[in-house]
Amino acid sequence: MNLSDIFSSLNQQHFSGELPLPKLTWNSRLRSSAGRFCPGSRNILKPRAPLIEIASYLQELDDGLLHITDTLLHEMIHYWLWIKHKPYGHTPEFHHIMKRVGARRYNPVPKLSAVKYWYECPRCLHKSPARRRLGSVACLSCCKKWNQGKYHENFRLRIAGAQAPMVAPEQNPATPAPLPISEILRRLEDLRNIIKKTSSKNTKLAPH
Ligand SMILES: [Zn+2]
Ligand SMILES: [Zn+2]
Repeated sequence: MNLSDIFSSLNQQHFSGELPLPKLTWNSRLRSSAGRFCPGSRNILKPRAPLIEIASYLQELDDGLLHITDTLLHEMIHYWLWIKHKPYGHTPEFHHIMKRVGARRYNPVPKLSAVKYWYECPRCLHKSPARRRLGSVACLSCCKKWNQGKYHENFRLRIAGAQAPMVAPEQNPATPAPLPISEILRRLEDLRNIIKKTSSKNTKLAPH
């Protein structure tokens, strides 16, 4: 499926062909949302083209083209606002345009009904969806990083929670969810212990 073709027809249909073609790519790592818009840089010294990414998994859905078109249209509204030097988040104007162009969803992330299980790596805690139970499958990036790319039991994926719904709100995937205070305190305590340990070690090892 050619994203720039879909872009061109949406551009003609809803934006009088005003939008210059941005960088358009599929992103196979995009899981928490269906698409995203990354503004370009207007800095003359460090120019960067604006970018629209569409999650690859949309291609696997039965009504994939519909989701792709919808998602692209959604991101194009962000892009149009940015082009016009306006705030380009989910502003009242965003909603207004959304109504005008008939984008059907505020949140373009479809439910992945086929996803039954979420697996997570015990080491890096990366979560990945699966449609069926997996056998002995280990985290690829951890095996690469820590075991020369070979399978290691320590990185064997475990079930993180069956039927976790895939309805994350559209958000910047780079922003992690806020931690509860208790968790922050616990991590601080861990950190303090580590510092204590290393500093006492250093004292012992320090030359006289
Ligand atoms: Zn959005
Ligand atoms: Zn891992």
